[in-house]
Amino acid sequence: MNAMKYLQALWLCMLLTGAAAQAQTDFPSCLYSLRAPAKAAGVREDSFARFTQGLTPDMGILDKMSNQPEFKMPIWDYLAALVDEERVAEGLAQLARHKDVLDKVAAQYGVDAATVVAVWGVESNFGQTFGKYPLTQALGTLSCFGPRQTYFRGEFFATLRILQAGHIAPERLVGSWAGAFGHTQFMPTTFERLAQDFDGDGRRDLMDSVPDALASTAHFLNKAGWNPAQVWGFEVQLPVGLDISGEGRKHKRALSEWAAKGLTQMGGGAVTSGLAPSTPAGLMTPAGAKGPAFLVLRNFDAIYSYNAAESYGLAIAHLSDRLRGAGPFATPWPTDDAGLSRAERREIQTLLNQRGHDIGVIDGMLGDKTRIAVRAEQTRLGQEVTGRAGQKLLRALR
Ligand code: CA
Repeated sequence: MNAMKYLQALWLCMLLTGAAAQAQTDFPSCLYSLRAPAKAAGVREDSFARFTQGLTPDMGILDKMSNQPEFKMPIWDYLAALVDEERVAEGLAQLARHKDVLDKVAAQYGVDAATVVAVWGVESNFGQTFGKYPLTQALGTLSCFGPRQTYFRGEFFATLRILQAGHIAPERLVGSWAGAFGHTQFMPTTFERLAQDFDGDGRRDLMDSVPDALASTAHFLNKAGWNPAQVWGFEVQLPVGLDISGEGRKHKRALSEWAAKGLTQMGGGAVTSGLAPSTPAGLMTPAGAKGPAFLVLRNFDAIYSYNAAESYGLAIAHLSDRLRGAGPFATPWPTDDAGLSRAERREIQTLLNQRGHDIGVIDGMLGDKTRIAVRAEQTRLGQEVTGRAGQKLLRALR
């Protein structure tokens, strides 16, 4: 490093240290300035004081917010981990375990048990993954620092109102760094709009009440326009030479029009079978014309509104089909190196560990440490060096 670069680095370092120190001193005054708007938003002064007492910012959250994932995951990797045999088996067990509640939920909100349980499985792994960030700290930090303070203040005040109303105990309220929490991973304002007290104890508790959580998910989908008389969609067979440019979830055509274009269900059944020919449906091809293709109906949009990503919606939709007894998609993904289930991810981490790589906890999550180890092994094996762990690497390491 030359002298100029060294001085620049030193200056930057001082600047960053100064910024962190500034953040510590600015946070109390920022919180103080939020008392009046919080009061106007329905948070009593004593509640504000009680729930923000001793609150410190978590500046690490701002790094999370600004760090775009450098690693764009192919959809087959995403789905391989979210909808694996483990998740299907556990979903079936939860369907049986909560059958009575799920039947009542379906009767009241018109959303079937498999769909509700599929959302639960993808959102929080059936209540096993809530996130670890105390919500008042995470949302307090994002209300005072970072680029979206106005939005996060709305969520922060909603959090304080939820605590003030006594729905959830303060020490139980943890979630993602961005504020989604509980079995359903609702944001606080979504909680206020849609959470349900289904076990009748007077509290809407998405942390510790499974009936409340399942009913809240069904209520969300109901309000998003769920139609109990329709499916989410289905996999289709495309006719040779179909032009799919411009088609997508939002570009709906009548099922009869798709039938006229030559689309069929897998196995050759009519796309209109069991549905009105005028039913609007969009053609989704998440990996292009050579991969699996789906006609998606209005219910897919309802699932999509839960988390605004088509890959996410497809994971829930597919898991719900698997819970109804369907198999994997009929059309393979257009890759010669398929994705790994969570069990296979844990296996590849174990194998990497045995080869002397430090990959941290064997948790099935392929983070930075695992990717560094994957690159090293790909180099050693003469494979293309991508940092992505798939079936090819797993086979080679076995
Ligand atoms: Ca309750």
